[in-house]
Amino acid sequence: MDPIVKVSEPHYCNSLTSYSRRKTIPVRVGDVLIGGDNPIVVQSMTTVDTMDTNGSVEQCIRMIESGCQLVRITAPSMKEAENLRNIKAELRKRGYNTPLVADIHFTPNAAELAARIVEKVRINPGNYADKKKFEVIEYTDESYQDELARIQERFLPLVKICKENGTAMRIGTNHGSLSDRIMSRYGDTPLGMVESALEFLRICESENFHDIVISMKSSNTQVMVQAYRLLVQKLDEGGFKPYPLHLGVTEAGEAEDGRIKSAVGIGTLLEDGLGDTVRVSLTEDPEFEAPVAKALIDRYTDRAGHQDIEPISDYSINPFEYTKRHTAEVYNFGDHNVPRVITDISRVEKVTEKEMKAVGHFYLPELDKWKMNDIGCDFVYSGSNPIPFMLPNGMKEIQNYEIWKQAPDQVNKFPLFSLAEANDSVIRHSELNFLEILDTQMDEAISFVEEKKNWVLILKTNNKHGMPAMRASMIKLLQSKNEIPVVMKVSYPDQTTDMTMLYTATDVGGLLIDGLGDGIMMSLENEGEHTREEILDQVKLHNSVSFGVLQAARTRMSKTEYISCPSCGRTLFDLQETTAMIRKRTDHLKGVKIGIMGCIVNGPGEMADADYGYVGSGKGKITLYKGKEVVKRSVPSKNAVDELIEIIREDGMWNEPESI
Ligand code: SF4
Repeated sequence: MDPIVKVSEPHYCNSLTSYSRRKTIPVRVGDVLIGGDNPIVVQSMTTVDTMDTNGSVEQCIRMIESGCQLVRITAPSMKEAENLRNIKAELRKRGYNTPLVADIHFTPNAAELAARIVEKVRINPGNYADKKKFEVIEYTDESYQDELARIQERFLPLVKICKENGTAMRIGTNHGSLSDRIMSRYGDTPLGMVESALEFLRICESENFHDIVISMKSSNTQVMVQAYRLLVQKLDEGGFKPYPLHLGVTEAGEAEDGRIKSAVGIGTLLEDGLGDTVRVSLTEDPEFEAPVAKALIDRYTDRAGHQDIEPISDYSINPFEYTKRHTAEVYNFGDHNVPRVITDISRVEKVTEKEMKAVGHFYLPELDKWKMNDIGCDFVYSGSNPIPFMLPNGMKEIQNYEIWKQAPDQVNKFPLFSLAEANDSVIRHSELNFLEILDTQMDEAISFVEEKKNWVLILKTNNKHGMPAMRASMIKLLQSKNEIPVVMKVSYPDQTTDMTMLYTATDVGGLLIDGLGDGIMMSLENEGEHTREEILDQVKLHNSVSFGVLQAARTRMSKTEYISCPSCGRTLFDLQETTAMIRKRTDHLKGVKIGIMGCIVNGPGEMADADYGYVGSGKGKITLYKGKEVVKRSVPSKNAVDELIEIIREDGMWNEPESI
């Protein structure tokens, strides 16, 4: 395999500290330009059957009205490719000039037809010229070259048609559907994903065809981020043109989980100036996707001109491989501990036992006992409003130092200090003290902490370029070899629910992806005036988003993970309804990954590393998987959820849900 990188010189982006968009070549797709100096483009994909012309047109219009600038439609065979003509004609007749993209898997003939009709064609290099048999094949250099020649023969006609018709192309690699050839040679890795696209890109370049956009999608956010970064590096090193990037996380799911997972992957890359077009895939109606993509993108319209961040002299993180920053164990932070969740309840005066359900801890008065759900926070921050009752064992309280130093119980509560308080303090906790600092105070914090063992940093920033500011600050810790655990504190006062999710997922998720951070604290700092109920709703949201971000960045699994496809014209059942039904029965299975895929053509490949799979295999028929292995074929859909649970039970992964 190729050597990957010299980690001290990451060159996957223009700057790690100053916002700057990667300069790409502009690619024309109808009236829309992707890349160059053009604004980042929002796109999405229809879900109705492509043969339903009217339904497709109506859905396209709803998507366009919601902010979608490019509409992708699946063309699984010649007849759907042909029907793109009718859909396009009807849209134009109704005054919508939005460019259309044909989505192709396995069918070069449909691609060649669609390329004459619509403005862009998406191909998946994993299945354009290959059928997946999950075989491991030993290649000699010669037989590998023969394979490349075979791909060239299959792919070249499409390149020529695109060139002749001014049709753009996306080479869209999916982590879950790499060809057996790539898997055999590079494995299931970011490098394999990049090479999968480069095989096809070389053919395009040999024909002098450059109207290309590239994507590296995965449902695993770490893999997705690493693959895009590696792609940029390989394009630069290989002397390729700087093609625009289409960003997306596949099978992100629905609602809060889907938004958070998308933002962890897409937001992390946008922060570093990567990405020219964005598609957020949610298991929801497609008109809900564009506003989420737009909210992610809009954060960068006035990002340049942020406060300066000290340049990084020695970047000691490998951006292409996950490695957790090594930290010392302090109480239950750092080292092998999962990242901790600190939920801020400091704005709730005289909080009651009953209200602790907002942070996942439930008081049962009849039994005088506490229970917690899967997202029970580890710590609550009460600030200057101490909690007037005894907390359960699983949750501890953090108080402001001024309160803590007069508290009757200084053992079971922990103090939070500012730098000035920490320097002046005479009493400290014997096991755990929190030091809250701004990113710009890191040098002082390092001097203060030195060899002290019982401290955890709470790091925040006022810089608009927040994630890179916190990252640069944490790099100083790495350089100083100080192993103090760090909790990342963020606050987005008075934002909507969606913005709170997306911003946290981007800012904290981006750090977690690079192995930084030992905890998360979403603060109520600077929130405006709100009623007690509104503040409690905010606390509940913060608690759940905190766990969601840790899960989406794959650093702490606290809930069942659903890898559900966004659905498209191939889908064989109502994905939203089915996902809701499966979720209802299984959402207590902490850490279990369940793939819910609309079709057997792409589903099994795309559900990536799911533990179990529920895949549409015919009308009213479901095929059930354990990992990549088929366990039951053609199960009638009315029994399929029960059968799925049976498989999980037989596998020893089932437990009965507890009622709280
Ligand atoms: S897995 Fe889902 S989104 Fe992908 S092709 Fe099949 S039905 Fe469409």
